[in-house]
Amino acid sequence: MAETKGYQVSARKYRPQRFEEVSSQEFVTETLRNAIVTDKIAHAYILSGPRGVGKTTIARIFAKALNCKNLKNGEPCNECDSCIEITKGTHPDVFELDAASNRGIDDVRAIQDAAKFYPIKGKKKFFIVDEVHMLTGAAFNAMLKILEEPPEYLVFILATTNPEKVPQTILSRCQRFVLKRIKIEEIIESIKAIAKEEKIKVDDESLFLIAKLGDGALRDAQGIFDMAVSFCGSNIKFDELNKFLNLPDKETFFKISDYIQEGNSKEIILYFNSLIDQGFDLQTFYNGLLEHLRNLLIIISTKNIELLNESDVIRNRYTQSAGKYTEGQVLRLLKILFESEGRFKFSGNQKLLLESMLIELCRVNTEVKDLSEMIAVVNSLKKNGNLKPVKQSFRITESIVEIDKAVKKEEAKQEKKSLAEMIKEMFNAEDYEIPKQ
Ligand SMILES: [Zn+2]
Repeated sequence: MAETKGYQVSARKYRPQRFEEVSSQEFVTETLRNAIVTDKIAHAYILSGPRGVGKTTIARIFAKALNCKNLKNGEPCNECDSCIEITKGTHPDVFELDAASNRGIDDVRAIQDAAKFYPIKGKKKFFIVDEVHMLTGAAFNAMLKILEEPPEYLVFILATTNPEKVPQTILSRCQRFVLKRIKIEEIIESIKAIAKEEKIKVDDESLFLIAKLGDGALRDAQGIFDMAVSFCGSNIKFDELNKFLNLPDKETFFKISDYIQEGNSKEIILYFNSLIDQGFDLQTFYNGLLEHLRNLLIIISTKNIELLNESDVIRNRYTQSAGKYTEGQVLRLLKILFESEGRFKFSGNQKLLLESMLIELCRVNTEVKDLSEMIAVVNSLKKNGNLKPVKQSFRITESIVEIDKAVKKEEAKQEKKSLAEMIKEMFNAEDYEIPKQ
């Protein structure tokens, strides 16, 4: 695929033109198709969902189907002049407004004009507004006025990533559809199909990486695929792609979590700095570490590796690594990461912030004893009768004081009381003595 005059980015070239070609949104596309077949068309629809999942694509197919001259089973023919004009974006009855980039008095006028005149060519006139939550109050008012008494030829199709920012008065007059993030397997299939069509060889690991970086948005994954093609040519290989994207690979985070486990703050800082020297992005590093710990937590708490969006090799690595941690430990590490998140965005020195965070992770993991583990041990001693009640037990009393101190220290840090209370409850009733071995 040479970048000649005819070059189109994949997201555009392979944009679905029929309802059945849209990935992952069957509920929405089927409902709309049925509305067309049964001729039950509302005046306003709102499609909400994350970016790149097909909101405006569905809006255009809907407009196309409603004006198509050879409609078949609710699907547009994509051959009649009306369909062709909508695909090209030149149909006189289909208006598109991107509220994210056009804010102001013009929106109001565009909305009012849309309502005023009959459609020129087709039966219906469409007003598609992308990122509708960005409209001004005046524009929403103009829209509301029309929606209160809509002309029968007018259909509004609104799309938004933030439905909660759309006024309730508008929402209540729309049929609402919620679009889902696209599953990684479906993105892989879609990219595979494009690669085949474009005669591009791409190995499985690369496909997986591209789909994963798309993060639920097919359009983003297609964009990364295009970049990969322009860098790697007609044969996309994982090693080359990874180098090009300059991503810290999974091993990086296994290494980091091993250092945390060992409490090796010196090595972790040296290693982190070597990564930065290689040009790794700080935000990508932070996100990667967060995901890594999340994966560990999932394995520890569910023992279900299927839940990880990773290849089999990496899944096995996680199972091994998870054995080194308890759930409580990973939760504590995640808590520190979340606490840093807010500060990270606004920090003037993100590198220093990450370094101090890494040191804290090392420290917390080794210094703080896992209280829930200690409770489990004491409970099992009690259960086995190895812990016998006596009237005065100097050693245990002393231990309680120690534990209490540790708990208080921990409380101050974590603002958690439940563990301390659990321990007190356990010991307050009677004193116990651990028998001499
Ligand atoms: Zn048609």
